[in-house]
Amino acid sequence: MMLNSSILISLAQNVALLLSLTYLYGLVLHNPRLARFNRSHLLEGLTFGLFGVLAVMTAIEVYPGFFLDARAIVVVVTGAFSGPVAALLASGMIALYRMMLGGGGVLSGVVAVMGAAALGTAVYYYRQRYGNRNERAVFLIVGGIAAINALVWPWAIGGSVGRQFAYKAALPMLVLVPAGIYFLRLLLSYRLRQLQMEQALRDSEERYRTVIAAMSEGFIYRSVEDGTVSCNASAETILGLSAAQIQHWIDENWRGLREDGTEFAAPDRPAAVALRTGQPQLNVTMGIQHPEKGLIWLLVNSSPLFRAGSSQPYAVMSTFTDITERRQAQTELLRERDTLRTLIDNIPDYIFIKDAQGRFVVSNAAHNQIAGVQRMDELVGKTAFDVFPPHLAPQFNEDDQMVLQGQALVNIERTSIDLQGKPCFVLTTKVPLRDAAGQVVGLVGISRNITHRKKLEEQTLQLAAERQRAAVLHRFITDISHDFRTPLSILSTSTELLRKHTDPDKREKHLRRIEEQITRVTTLLDAVVEMADLERNVVVRHDDPINLQPLLTETIKDCEPLAKNKGVKLLWQQTSMPIMVNADAHHIRRAVHNLLENAIQYNAAGGWVMISTQNLATHLVIEIRDSGIGMTEAEQQHIFEHFYRADEARSMDTGGTGLGLPIARKIVEAHGGTISVESQPGQGSTFTVTLPLSDERVAEAV
Ligand code: ADP
Repeated sequence: MMLNSSILISLAQNVALLLSLTYLYGLVLHNPRLARFNRSHLLEGLTFGLFGVLAVMTAIEVYPGFFLDARAIVVVVTGAFSGPVAALLASGMIALYRMMLGGGGVLSGVVAVMGAAALGTAVYYYRQRYGNRNERAVFLIVGGIAAINALVWPWAIGGSVGRQFAYKAALPMLVLVPAGIYFLRLLLSYRLRQLQMEQALRDSEERYRTVIAAMSEGFIYRSVEDGTVSCNASAETILGLSAAQIQHWIDENWRGLREDGTEFAAPDRPAAVALRTGQPQLNVTMGIQHPEKGLIWLLVNSSPLFRAGSSQPYAVMSTFTDITERRQAQTELLRERDTLRTLIDNIPDYIFIKDAQGRFVVSNAAHNQIAGVQRMDELVGKTAFDVFPPHLAPQFNEDDQMVLQGQALVNIERTSIDLQGKPCFVLTTKVPLRDAAGQVVGLVGISRNITHRKKLEEQTLQLAAERQRAAVLHRFITDISHDFRTPLSILSTSTELLRKHTDPDKREKHLRRIEEQITRVTTLLDAVVEMADLERNVVVRHDDPINLQPLLTETIKDCEPLAKNKGVKLLWQQTSMPIMVNADAHHIRRAVHNLLENAIQYNAAGGWVMISTQNLATHLVIEIRDSGIGMTEAEQQHIFEHFYRADEARSMDTGGTGLGLPIARKIVEAHGGTISVESQPGQGSTFTVTLPLSDERVAEAV
């Protein structure tokens, strides 16, 4: 077969047709502006169909009514890329046109086109199922089959001309159809990929645009190549300028200020430096004039942009935030901190903050001084053990540990050292510091030197005690002088009478009187001295255990003559058990004697006094009960006071001193015991003494 020039021309026309189809495929079918038609198989079918028709128009008529053209290529690719609907549409259009042309090859032509559509559709499903697997081979094979399909029908149904046509067209078809399909697929795939990439790029650019527009930070992009400047809405808001103003004003027209207030020259600003050095400039603070607000402060980041393979930036991108308010707040905070610092440094109290490990974090001037440091930072990180003497540090640390476990210590007294390093007393309050979650993260402490106050308090107390002692002494002396005055005046009268009388009987009587009064004064003096000794709290010694049983028996024996004299019976409920008490025998005997004497004295002839003892678990109880005159409630209130004597007792003239009971009470209390009374006038009295039993005795009892 000969390839004459008209065939070549037609071929070239068809190749051009296919190329323009490729172009149109991208331009029309994947144009974002026609997005709503995208992937519309109808539109694709229509476009491909049009090209198929054009291909038939530029065909070579090999025999009258038999054409050789690229329609098989177009239809197969339509089916493969756009599916059955498009293939049907395109092949339908081509078949119609072919029918319009008429001639002997109409039927075989139409059947061949339909066959090509079926082949394309088969590839479409293959691609859907297997993706790009063996794509080239598939297209080549399908290309071969499409060529055979285009030849077989004229051969079969085109009569002798058809057979001649098939014979003549066989070689070009078998070469050109697979090759055409193969290359058209290649071009379309390539174009498709390119279009997809372009779309992805557009999408990503759009995303960045959206992000930049939505950013609260100001954004300015400046290209060095074409001088374009673009910015986002935040940049306009922050700078108080329109986008156009920013474009014209940028840098050169701004007066920049550095943080220290000096001029920030245009070449030194972050964007210029980033462009010049190729290094990103981060967190640069710059002050500029806002048209309305005046001076505002910006925190600027500038990054250079490079093209692949170039070391020279082609643009610079700056982002910035308005930190004017933050700066003001910071300045305010610093000022506040300085004020607070000055305040706590001038407070004489020791103020400190420690962390959760008990290490100093903050300390005021007074506390620095006692910790032996000049400045706070010398103390930071140290513990009480590092700075305080060994007799103080453990106590401080113990307190810290309690507070760090969450317990506040309020106004506790501690020993510490004063500013001169001398020992002193402080009143300390330590409270835990907690974080937002309530976790203890440290403690704050404040200690006040209270040595001076404590001394004053002690002095005040001493003074009060002194006053009380003076008052007691005064009353005591008044009482004494009163009690001494009676016998002294009797002495004086009796002496006077003695001098006057010559009658020996009368003189004898007065002499007896004088002797009696001297005895009374002596007794009184003895009692006063004894009382005074007891008041000093040193005369009663009760370290050794003694058995009270014989002591009581002897004391009762001592009182027997007095009882006999008075006609009072002594009843003693003696037990055989020893009664062990840690006691001063002499003084206990004295106390019991006083009580017994009273019970006999304030009694009447025929009366009785009963003495009994009772061992309780830890105490001994001695009861002295009498059938005597008794006392009123009011009298009972005073009987343990110095020199107190009830009226009735006075009238009985027992020679009492009014010191017997105070002495007894003093002695009993010095032994750790108690003394009490129960009585009613005319009904007798019961005095009850309790004394702690000696440990031995208690041990025995247990
Ligand atoms: P006095 O030396 O007067 O006995 P005391 O201090 O022993 O002094 O007793 C004070 C006063 O208590 C007595 O003067 C008396 O009025 C009253 N008193 C003490 N013991 C008894 C008692 N057993 N019965 C009644 N009154 C008593």
